[in-house]
Amino acid sequence: AHLDRITAVDGDVHAFLHVASEEALETAAQVDARRAAGEEVHPLAGVPIAVKDVVVTKGLPTTAGSKILEGWVPPYDATLVERIKAAGLPILGKTNMDEFAMGSSTEHSAFGNTKNPWDLERIPGGSGGGSAAAVAAFEAPLAIGTDTGGSIRQPGAVTGTVGVKPTYGGVSRYGLIAMASSLDQAGPVTRTVLDAALLHELIGGHDPHDSTSIDEPVPGVVEAARQGASGDLAGLRVGVVRELSGEGYQAGVSARFEESLEQLRALGAEVVEVSCPSFGYALDAYYLIMPAEASSNLAKFDGMRFGLRVEPAEGPVTAERVMGATRGAGFGDEVKRRIILGTYALSAGYYDAYYGSAQKVRTLIQRDFAAAFEKADVLVSPTAPTTAFKFGEKLDDPLAMYLNDIATIPANLAGVPGMSVPNGLSDDGLPVGFQILAPAKADDRMYRVGAALE
Ligand code: GLN
Repeated sequence: AHLDRITAVDGDVHAFLHVASEEALETAAQVDARRAAGEEVHPLAGVPIAVKDVVVTKGLPTTAGSKILEGWVPPYDATLVERIKAAGLPILGKTNMDEFAMGSSTEHSAFGNTKNPWDLERIPGGSGGGSAAAVAAFEAPLAIGTDTGGSIRQPGAVTGTVGVKPTYGGVSRYGLIAMASSLDQAGPVTRTVLDAALLHELIGGHDPHDSTSIDEPVPGVVEAARQGASGDLAGLRVGVVRELSGEGYQAGVSARFEESLEQLRALGAEVVEVSCPSFGYALDAYYLIMPAEASSNLAKFDGMRFGLRVEPAEGPVTAERVMGATRGAGFGDEVKRRIILGTYALSAGYYDAYYGSAQKVRTLIQRDFAAAFEKADVLVSPTAPTTAFKFGEKLDDPLAMYLNDIATIPANLAGVPGMSVPNGLSDDGLPVGFQILAPAKADDRMYRVGAALE
């Protein structure tokens, strides 16, 4: 049914870069056979899933939205993909994204725009716009996204889907094409909070292939989602982050946010205001740390190891000249912009002023979170300042594009988990997201609150 749906609507939506019909049907048949033989299977066995194209999948093309990886087929599976396959979820295909996960609109994909199913003239968010659009358009019931500064949660907000960035280290990064290794996390994109919890539980947990993976059981997210669905939030302290609302947020976004706070109060939660003064510098710190790490991570795309190779049109074919020609032709403008920013920030003489200062701001943000979590069990804010904007509106203005992540970036810098749940429609008829943040390793708290709001 989902493959039929993809055939029917993906010509318009363009959520997928690659559809793996045959493989998906084969997995589905295997699960049927296991069930028929009386075997006990995972609760999500047979439920199809779409995977963001930044996650490597053995035998399926993986481009990370970039020309430089066009035609590359990975020889191994990411750990989370291995777990998905072992549980018997048919992988429907790979979803579109901003090149190397850099962007907030999926307009930076080298393979064309993904459209927001709510309005085909608008962006589906980014970088994981393909995963969010696939779920919102009923092409897939579940999807995997990755979130370095908001790329699961902001697309979730603007497409009316649930998006979860787990605690840093909660889901293995082995097999994610790294953007910024200290910020990247993979997580669920779904239509309900319980679906997200089931998927989170499946892909989460320790992995010896990832040295930053937490060696502890996954928090009780499924149980928390069930508890939250019963609607009891008695005794829960909800902190509204003063710095993440008000000026700059669309009126309809703020109105829906206030209504959800009312709903939380009605369910027994105590709503308090908290202040995180350093959050005002989060975007600045992010746009030094993230490009710095990306410039290093992307150095491996040299025209020799993976995908594209372009030889210089004339003159000697040296390693350096092949690298230059390949990277010049293979990377898009946004990726080049960030590599230049990152190498500049890391260069001798500037390191302390830029990268060093940004790391200090990161510590201040972590302290703000620690102080706020003394006063509240979870923190909340609108996920994104506006609803989905039109194609082209922010494409030529990187700063305007970067501002979409103002509310989501602090969580990545501190490593804490974040969730976006649908929060009704703004006055323009487009979806709004409600963000819930919890302390590291307390992901279950977000599920309790998210399910209660559903
Ligand atoms: N939009 C942010 C950026 O462009 C976040 C991207 C992400 O989370 N992958 O960097």
